[in-house]
Amino acid sequence: MESQSDKTQDPIEQAGASRPSANVYKSVEDRLAAQQRRKRARLRFTITAFLMGGLISWMAADLLVPDIAKATLSAKPAPSTPVISDELRALPPMQRDYELDALGNGDTLAALLTRANVHAVEADAALDQLRSVYDVRRLKPGQSVRLHREWPAGQDKTTHEGRFAGFDFIPVPEQKIIVRRTGFQSFTAIKRDRPLSDRHFLADGLINSSVYEAARSSGMSPNLVVELIRLFSFAIDFQRDIREGDQLEVLYTRRFDENNQVAQEGDIVFASLTNRGKRYAYWRMLQEDGSENYFDANGQSVQRLLMKTPVDGARLSSRFGMRRHPILGYTRLHRGLDFAAPIGTPIYAAGDGVIQRIGTYGNNGKYIRIQHRNGYETAYAHMNRFARRLKKGSRVKQGQIIGTVGRTGLATGPHLHYEVLHYEKPVNPRELNVPPQRNLDATALADLAQLKIDIAEKVSGLAASDNSLRSLPRRRSALAPQ
Ligand SMILES: [Zn+2]
Repeated sequence: MESQSDKTQDPIEQAGASRPSANVYKSVEDRLAAQQRRKRARLRFTITAFLMGGLISWMAADLLVPDIAKATLSAKPAPSTPVISDELRALPPMQRDYELDALGNGDTLAALLTRANVHAVEADAALDQLRSVYDVRRLKPGQSVRLHREWPAGQDKTTHEGRFAGFDFIPVPEQKIIVRRTGFQSFTAIKRDRPLSDRHFLADGLINSSVYEAARSSGMSPNLVVELIRLFSFAIDFQRDIREGDQLEVLYTRRFDENNQVAQEGDIVFASLTNRGKRYAYWRMLQEDGSENYFDANGQSVQRLLMKTPVDGARLSSRFGMRRHPILGYTRLHRGLDFAAPIGTPIYAAGDGVIQRIGTYGNNGKYIRIQHRNGYETAYAHMNRFARRLKKGSRVKQGQIIGTVGRTGLATGPHLHYEVLHYEKPVNPRELNVPPQRNLDATALADLAQLKIDIAEKVSGLAASDNSLRSLPRRRSALAPQ
């Protein structure tokens, strides 16, 4: 700040160069008036420079390092637009800094402020103002909060602890809540909309080792990759079918705030996997009921009644059919598939359904059985843990985590034993040919045809640009024909 106040001298001196010489002044009054004008101009400039300097350093912390690859799902707080009221303008120029904290389980904002050594009277005053714009009961554990401190401009931060200047947080990506000090023990609270925009990104490349790695190395977030794998898992058996040289092409979105920071992860708009010469391609379409589903080129939904593999990253360790039991020793029908995976690997419900049985069940150890539509049931054995709040009669969604891999019951090592039953008869999950969940009607098929053209254009546009941060502005028509 000191360097900035030095700089303020220069323009004034330069302005002085065009100053008329002393003998031009006709009277002393004129000279005094001119001096006063210059003084006022210098004062105005100094104040402006201080305010601007403060604002710039305050915002710089946010504007730097827009690292896309490291961007996480949690919204990065955007710099606050300073609210310059007359009241604020009257305050002496201050420098600001902030620290990050987050609400824990059963935590409150009041406790968070106490932790940060905010005086109780000030915390109360700030929270009072907050309540006028936001219902604090809506705050959830994990909510991150920026606590601001301020100290007089021009002074070294290390010598000042700084006083509490307010806090802000982003409860939903589209909204920011700001509480700012306005004076001695007085605060103001503002609810501000954050305009977000979607940008498209293309992940494309050859698969060297796994779909996961190929997608991650093209910049997709881990969560989106899991979605991608789930999308293909209905048609492709990842353990058996993927070959080196298979090709991946994914168009996906990310939402950015007005400061170019990733505010929210987006969706997969289009995905294609060329597997041993055969191309599997899916387009996302908005349905009349408001849900979004993926369809293949013929308008058949990707989603099937059941998933083929209800666990990620597992190795098939025992097939369906007659085999010698590794512990019991005699030969009998292996009624399902065994997937070897480390203890704690999440297990997904293979389809929508209702839990029929949950608990310890003989040699099966910890066991879950789910009833699905069309006479199908799935069973999961040797589990380590059940997901919380699941009980007999609970409804589960396809892909929902129902528990984790373990080695309970009669098991030689950690694995999931997975069974599919059709009208109580065990069937081989690998040979399942369950029907698609829905098909598009004629109107929707026409929309899909247009969507395919738009997406192809977008993909080739992005593929042609060699910018590693490839993006195009969102075009509504290309996303969801309505
Ligand atoms: Zn088994």
